[in-house]
Amino acid sequence: MKLSDLVNPTILTQPVYEPGKPIETVARELGLDPATIIKLASNENAFGPSPKAIAAAHAALNEAQLYPDGGAFTLRQKLAARHALAPEQIVPGNGSNEILELLGHVFLRPGDEAVMGVPAFVVYKLVALLFGAKPVEVPLVNHRHDLAALALAITPRTKLVFLPSPNNPTGTANSEEEILAFARALPPHVVLVFDEAYAEFLANPPDLRPLLREGRHVVCLRTFSKIFGLAALRVGYGYTSPEIAALLNRARQPFNVNAIGQAAACAALDDGEFTARCVRENRAGLEQLAAGCQALGLEIVPSVANFFLVRVGDGARVFGELQARGVIVRPLKPYGMAEWLRVTVGTATQNERLLRELATVVK
Ligand SMILES: *Cc1c(COP(=O)(O)O)cnc(C)c1O
Repeated sequence: MKLSDLVNPTILTQPVYEPGKPIETVARELGLDPATIIKLASNENAFGPSPKAIAAAHAALNEAQLYPDGGAFTLRQKLAARHALAPEQIVPGNGSNEILELLGHVFLRPGDEAVMGVPAFVVYKLVALLFGAKPVEVPLVNHRHDLAALALAITPRTKLVFLPSPNNPTGTANSEEEILAFARALPPHVVLVFDEAYAEFLANPPDLRPLLREGRHVVCLRTFSKIFGLAALRVGYGYTSPEIAALLNRARQPFNVNAIGQAAACAALDDGEFTARCVRENRAGLEQLAAGCQALGLEIVPSVANFFLVRVGDGARVFGELQARGVIVRPLKPYGMAEWLRVTVGTATQNERLLRELATVVK
């Protein structure tokens, strides 16, 4: 008997997520000095984690022999206070990606449908496929989610609708007003998954808590991987109704968020000054990069997140040449935008380097 005969057929056709390459990998493959490489490919925080988060992570290592608090008590208390919610409404995740998978476990069965924009974060599609559900992809209009078209894609089989704002990879956002109207018009058999991985970069992130008070099925997702600079530690969370949180917790492994991550996340939340500085630096970086691209005659998509799209023509070629020069960005071909690259905002020095290399490569 062949191994493939034993395997769940869903797995045999499951696409594989392609992450941005780590600096070490690029250095090894191209024979470059890792110290000279900059990675502007995965929307990480160029300013690192808060020094207070690093100190908390170090301290937590001293007790690494103990299992973490499986209920993430302190972290959930802090998050509940931050969002003015009850701790029972917070579900900790091994990155918010894990919450996406938990949503699949809880809500998706073969034959169900999950509605999503395209291009959007590819993990939505991967999760739908993993659980045998059909991804229903709705094209963005002007690089923004078309909420009217998303609403039209809902059928009696729809279980989940994914809405990221700001969206990855386009960096565009929908207004609070239109999101609330969209959510209120959803039929009750649909759960809205509102992915706000980049909410902290917005001056006024949309507030979906009124929907929870109205008893609507909404799950909001946040992460410590972006503004908080803790991508390596894998901490994210969902906030939702106590009922949906309890369901997600049933599917969750007991120790899904490690103790180092919990400690660092708590300390990061307490360092508002650091976060505010990162937001300011990011705004300045977006302006620097927009001006630089404009000077090179390159079209960009104006972004409200910590990354942006730039149209370079042959995206694969420019990506490859930038990488050979030690600048890693993200080619958008997998998102059906072969002429575009996604570039993460770096430090002012990194942004300057990107613009310099881009100038020589695009000509
Ligand atoms: C980065 C990102 C995430 C967060 O992933 P983690 O698993 O928390 O690291 C979620 N959604 C979107 C749209 C993202 O860009």
